Amino acid sequence: MRDHLWYDATKVFIDGTWRAPEGGGQLDIEDPSTGAVIGSIARGTAADIDAAVAAAQGALDGDWGRMSATERGRILTKIGALVAMRLDDLAMIEATDVGKPLTQARADAVALARYMEFYGGAADKIMGETIPYLDGYTVYTLREPHGVTGHIVPWNYPMQIIGRSVGAALAMGNACVLKPAEEACLTALAFVALAEEAGLPRGALNVVPGLGEEAGTALSGHPGVNHISFTGSVGVGSLVQAAAARNVTPVTLELGGKSPQIVFDDADLDAAIPFLVGACIQNAGQTCSASSRVLIQRPVYEEVIERMAARYDAMISAPAKRDANLGPLISAKQKDIVTGYLAKGADLRVAGMGSIAEDAPNGGHYVPATLFADVSPDHPLAQEEIFGPVQVAIPFDTEDEAVAIANGTDYGLVASVWTGNGARQMRLAKRIRAGQVFINNYGAGGGVELPFGGTGKSGHGREKGFEALYGFSTLKTIAAKHG
Ligand code: NAD
Repeated sequence: MRDHLWYDATKVFIDGTWRAPEGGGQLDIEDPSTGAVIGSIARGTAADIDAAVAAAQGALDGDWGRMSATERGRILTKIGALVAMRLDDLAMIEATDVGKPLTQARADAVALARYMEFYGGAADKIMGETIPYLDGYTVYTLREPHGVTGHIVPWNYPMQIIGRSVGAALAMGNACVLKPAEEACLTALAFVALAEEAGLPRGALNVVPGLGEEAGTALSGHPGVNHISFTGSVGVGSLVQAAAARNVTPVTLELGGKSPQIVFDDADLDAAIPFLVGACIQNAGQTCSASSRVLIQRPVYEEVIERMAARYDAMISAPAKRDANLGPLISAKQKDIVTGYLAKGADLRVAGMGSIAEDAPNGGHYVPATLFADVSPDHPLAQEEIFGPVQVAIPFDTEDEAVAIANGTDYGLVASVWTGNGARQMRLAKRIRAGQVFINNYGAGGGVELPFGGTGKSGHGREKGFEALYGFSTLKTIAAKHG
């Protein structure tokens, strides 16, 4: 590994400079693969958030605010190129910080580079329209940035989530304040250093690590913030929305799900099986769009279970740098949550279960990948987001029953339908309540170009693709009377 000290993990990054956080506080950071403390990060405060918001406003009033969309796009594209030159370093940092296997961490770095490339190219391709109106008028619309945007990011996919939200916000000309998760903020710091190297003007992107209840609350309730993008838990998402509401600040919430894959008896099972399993256990199940429910039509139910179980039985959880199927969970707290769910499933049929590498360090937060079968749709394991490598299989008979089960949770993020019947594909794509429906595939989090977001408790607003550029901008209508 090359040295990666191109950023300072113990500092906040505000107005183009690395500074000690106000008050000088530090938080320990842990390697989830070992449980060992591996360093410290800044404990950003409300005062740091104030300074970051002021710096962002300064950027809007200065060089950044005056820059053409084309020039903004060029800078984003250059950031993407610098990220692409550091893929291995970024992967190693993320694997150490988050505990995700190296290959998965590298895929996140590739996605970050791709987001910058995509939004770099899109920056000058968002246009308004002209509107036919009364005689003697010319009416047109302008897409304008919100202004200062706040980005509160979780620990599960820091690089991808930074890419999709900060990338789109910068492309539209906003100036950003990013609050990464206290469990995993190193790649956020590494990223902002690369952005600076690419020529992003000072203040356009500020990064304040810190605790949710300190830096996070300060950002979500800040009157100088004009838009908030939050990804994380339902509980914190509703707190963020309530805090933002006091300032009438718009929010985008991405809060996770209980995403189903529906397998009909005419499906191509050879194609389906790898997705049925892989879309749940990637990142050890700590994925908002994890497919944690599989609904299987009875004629193929036992065959699908058997084939999925064989994959589970072969799955190994091991330290991230070993690059096995699964790494550890992010923290002892997350392991407690997931083992609590495994205990709730004690009376269920365990169809398949992976193992933990014999030499995995005791302090690491490992749980075996587990597939439960014959689970009732209203069981807590089939209703609640577990955020671990735990999947439930539910049998069904009819299409109507499958739709009712698929739509029968509080969430609606992603779904997939596996069937060779074209009419059924179209019917279900419409009937399933979700922000994304995949047909004969499943793209957990994938697809920079594809608008992404949920309904119900999965949240609201869309990120990714061109749609995010609308979310990170506001529309102005100009009506000129000229007679
Ligand atoms: P969280 O919601 O507590 O944290 C997400 C982000 O919000 C972090 O940056 C955190 O510092 C910040 N935050 C925490 N409290 C805040 C507050 N009061 N105001 C403003 N910001 C605050 O999520 P978590 O503890 O990291 O994980 C708990 C559960 O959340 C998981 O088990 C999982 O179900 C869910 N989760 C979902 C996603 C997702 O992608 N949808 C990501 C991570 C976690």
